[in-house]
Amino acid sequence: MTTVGILGGGQLARMMALAGAPLGLRFLVMDTSGEACAGQFVPMVVGDWRDENALAEFAQRVDVATFDFENVPAESAEWLAARIPVFPAPGALGVAQDRLAEKTLFRELGIGTPEFAALETREELVAAVARIGLPCILKTRRLGYDGKGQFRLKTKADIDAAWAALGAQASKVGLILEAFVPFEREVSVVAVRGKDGEFRAWPLTENWHRDGILSASMAPARQAEALEPQALAFAQKVADSLGYVGVFALELFVHDGQLLANEMAPRVHNSGHWTIEGAETSQFENHLRAVLGLPLGSTRPVGHSVMLNWIGEMPAPSPALSSPSGHWHDYGKSARAGRKVGHATFRANSRSSLAADLSRATEGFGRSAEFAEVLSRLS
Ligand code: AMP
Repeated sequence: MTTVGILGGGQLARMMALAGAPLGLRFLVMDTSGEACAGQFVPMVVGDWRDENALAEFAQRVDVATFDFENVPAESAEWLAARIPVFPAPGALGVAQDRLAEKTLFRELGIGTPEFAALETREELVAAVARIGLPCILKTRRLGYDGKGQFRLKTKADIDAAWAALGAQASKVGLILEAFVPFEREVSVVAVRGKDGEFRAWPLTENWHRDGILSASMAPARQAEALEPQALAFAQKVADSLGYVGVFALELFVHDGQLLANEMAPRVHNSGHWTIEGAETSQFENHLRAVLGLPLGSTRPVGHSVMLNWIGEMPAPSPALSSPSGHWHDYGKSARAGRKVGHATFRANSRSSLAADLSRATEGFGRSAEFAEVLSRLS
């Protein structure tokens, strides 16, 4: 019996454990909070990431370790990797944890990115704004996610507020200024690379964000023919250069028909949740297969899918449960503003029946306006 250890016990760990059960796998999660939602049905070690006793107990009870949470300190990942197999390797995790390192890698690989500049002082911020231009976004290099640790600057007058908001982080996690890309749309590649270097990707996924948090995903993306080959080639270059093992996501902006890489997530990703029902093999199962050195499953889509994220609190499930296309995922979390608490995926064989079912369901949720743009892209 193989036990997979997962660092971080959130919804990604929870869905990974659900995907691993039919493979006969056991799981152990480690989290800093005893309330982590995977812990509702997966055994858990609770401890600080730097607590060697907790890490030692975790290492002793698992055969291989992987991540639900990308911001596990690099030293903790390395400490574990010296004792048990850890995938993806701490080195790859380290690059993806740092917006400057990942954007620098993208550039080296010939992958376009928004203009960017690293900075440490207010003077350097002023110089970077002058060089990159307005509007732009100040972000923390490390420990930011879901739009946290970001400040948008529209005019020079915003420099003071941006520095007041994030300046104190400069010495702790570093800062990066990026040009604001007036993108036409956002897409992501969710892909998997095996231990033998085999690479497979799900179809290009189209994404919508609200306040920096993923709101909806559609796969396959519309009119992907012109973009998908290049997007997948970018993802493969990144994965090969890092010797990456497991599932990851590459988030891209489409601007003037060109792809610009925003960031890479070194783990299963929210924009791949649709693969649970909408693909031959889900991202969660393929991640486990990769980490365990098993053959990778087909990433072929099964029809057309749209995933709606529930942020803050769960709506009543009946519009999804009573829909012929609907699938419900409640992460078992308590309600809190800005928190991802669940999602619904709608999957149908044709775009037209998906549009009809989704339209009825979003009306039932009373959220037609919120998802109107997603719906308009299906017709
Ligand atoms: P991130 O945490 O970098 O993934 O950013 C979250 C979201 O904020 C992205 O998905 C975009 O919607 C938006 N965003 C981030 N960076 C930029 C940028 N340079 N230009 C335009 N929008 C951005």
